Amino acid sequence: MPTPDFAMNRRTLLRGTAALGAGALLAAGAPWHATGAGAAVDQPDIASCDAWNARPPSGALTIINSKPNKIIVHHTALANSTDYSQAHAFQDARDIQNLHMDTNGWVDTGQQFTISRGGWITEGRHGSLYALLHGQTLVQGAQCVGQNNQSVGIENEGTYLSVQPPTALWNSLIAMCAFSCQQYGIAATEIYGHNDFNNTQCPGLIHDRLPELRTSVAGLI
Ligand SMILES: [Zn+2]
Repeated sequence: MPTPDFAMNRRTLLRGTAALGAGALLAAGAPWHATGAGAAVDQPDIASCDAWNARPPSGALTIINSKPNKIIVHHTALANSTDYSQAHAFQDARDIQNLHMDTNGWVDTGQQFTISRGGWITEGRHGSLYALLHGQTLVQGAQCVGQNNQSVGIENEGTYLSVQPPTALWNSLIAMCAFSCQQYGIAATEIYGHNDFNNTQCPGLIHDRLPELRTSVAGLI
């Protein structure tokens, strides 16, 4: 876990590096990027809580007034659905929220974002999309003990103990990690699996592919 000083230095370095490529990228002109001139990664489509008809949180959410320093990748450990539609992704988002609120007793969905097997990205915990687009704060999640106040949690639909995730999911995971790294100034090396911090099988075989994921993300930011 990096110290605050180390994290600060790394962000400063990242900003400097990003600025070098800014000239070639100004034409893209994506207005939603909080980082302005350093913007390089397009925002992937992310369906908000309103879009998938999330329930309101059962209580107050905690806003961390600092940037997360890492991304933590999960698998949901639910069924490997063959329904790759957006409608299924939205149903999955509702099922997860119900599970986390009604069974786990949490205030809202635990993770900040979810990616379906069809590659559809949805906001998890309320406010996470707003926070990501502005790149300054984090809605504290419930996704990795000891890391919830400093990490973005991304859940990938399915169970990957013996099978690999579908290509559509994998590609969206790359896009989502790259955009998150850009927005928060997180280095591609700071993408981890749940089992790097907690005693769990999550995220299964995706953990073996973290080096590949980091390399792909590094190539985009
Ligand atoms: Zn997990």
